[in-house]
Amino acid sequence: MNNELKKRDRAVNWHPYTQMKTADDAIPIVRGEGVYLYDNEGKKYIDAVSSWWVTLHGHANPHIAQRVFNQLNTLEQVIFAGFTHEPAIQLSENLLKLLPENQEKVFYSDNGSTAVEVALKMCIQYAYNQGKAKTKILAFKDAYHGDTFGAMSVSGRSVWTQPFGEMLFEVIFIDTPNSENIDALKAEISQFADDIACFIYEPLVQGAAGMLMYQPEDLSELMKFCRSKEIVMIQDEVFTGFGRTGKLFAADHLTEKPDIMCFSKGLTGGTMPMGITTCSQEIFNAFLSDDKYKTLFHGHSFTANPLACTAALASMELLLQENTQIAIRRISEQHSDFTKILREHHGVKNVRQMGTIIAWELKTEAQTSYFNEIGKKTYDEFLLRGIIMRPLGNVMYLVPPYCITSEELDFIYKNIIEVINLFLQQE
Ligand SMILES: *Cc1c(COP(=O)(O)O)cnc(C)c1O
Repeated sequence: MNNELKKRDRAVNWHPYTQMKTADDAIPIVRGEGVYLYDNEGKKYIDAVSSWWVTLHGHANPHIAQRVFNQLNTLEQVIFAGFTHEPAIQLSENLLKLLPENQEKVFYSDNGSTAVEVALKMCIQYAYNQGKAKTKILAFKDAYHGDTFGAMSVSGRSVWTQPFGEMLFEVIFIDTPNSENIDALKAEISQFADDIACFIYEPLVQGAAGMLMYQPEDLSELMKFCRSKEIVMIQDEVFTGFGRTGKLFAADHLTEKPDIMCFSKGLTGGTMPMGITTCSQEIFNAFLSDDKYKTLFHGHSFTANPLACTAALASMELLLQENTQIAIRRISEQHSDFTKILREHHGVKNVRQMGTIIAWELKTEAQTSYFNEIGKKTYDEFLLRGIIMRPLGNVMYLVPPYCITSEELDFIYKNIIEVINLFLQQE
């Protein structure tokens, strides 16, 4: 049984971020419930990475499922040019109420990368529509904003972008801010300030780079400086949104407001693909004109799909419930206690945490990198123990669904320490 699905899969499917020649067979998952995923032999796995950082309230959540089911029997899809529907209106209203007050308009797309594409096009055309030739873009060195060409261009240059090097547009890359380098960063930005169409950044946590973290005060100061230079700011909350950092949005840790924001991943609670780009009235107004050429010519077939909007509405209801907010605080506190244990462990370095996200690095002979062999070995060991973790090389992290219990978290922590000790012995 097991092997048959694996064989059929290998015959036809090409998996993401996977070297198909050397990869192990993909594990067939037949069902999910809460924090657990079940394979076709009945083995259960704790999903400690929320299935690539998307699942907020557990798998096959009955509340979301029921709402989507009802919507599916009412209206599954309608063209969003010239037409609208209640779920999109309600979702935009509900979301905008939670965002910084300058966010006024919602543009729908399909995933995190497209939310970023839309944001970049908004910024470049914002300048263009005003007759300004601003073409330079500012981003952080280790940034990750997605895998489509625009999103890849504003992501840090790495093995992932290397084959496309020449074809990516030019970006000015700067370090993330800290109390020591902030003045130098400002000086660097000043040189190009007049030509910069926008500054795009992952607030506080650079996820795909290996859960690198930096401080809210430093980002706020950098944002304030960008504001003074009239640089449009895109805050990519595709990962940090919807409670991950301990607050509803990373924006809630900051004193300054971005012009544009991007959302996906947790937006629908991890049930359906959807992206959202929000913007301020000022950005929106630059597209209002009797001149048709000033239109934002962008749209996807499934823009504001009613099923995805409904899933997002249902997920946000759950997120705002008192018990979910308590769970987020509990997970953050448990993580915080676990950082103390990790910090004292001689095989571990660079322990960091923000809200429900915790990360650390294994001390190895080889360099900290995505290709560090230890990643694959520990991944396999965790799978054997029924835990899905996905180390980025020697960087390990947890991003659990909010429905995880403290016992389940303790079970994961205990296994983490055992696995670290196991690999220390082998080195
Ligand atoms: C995952 C991610 C993206 C890309 O989202 P996809 O839905 O995978 O296209 C963009 N920005 C950030 C910060 C992300 O973590």
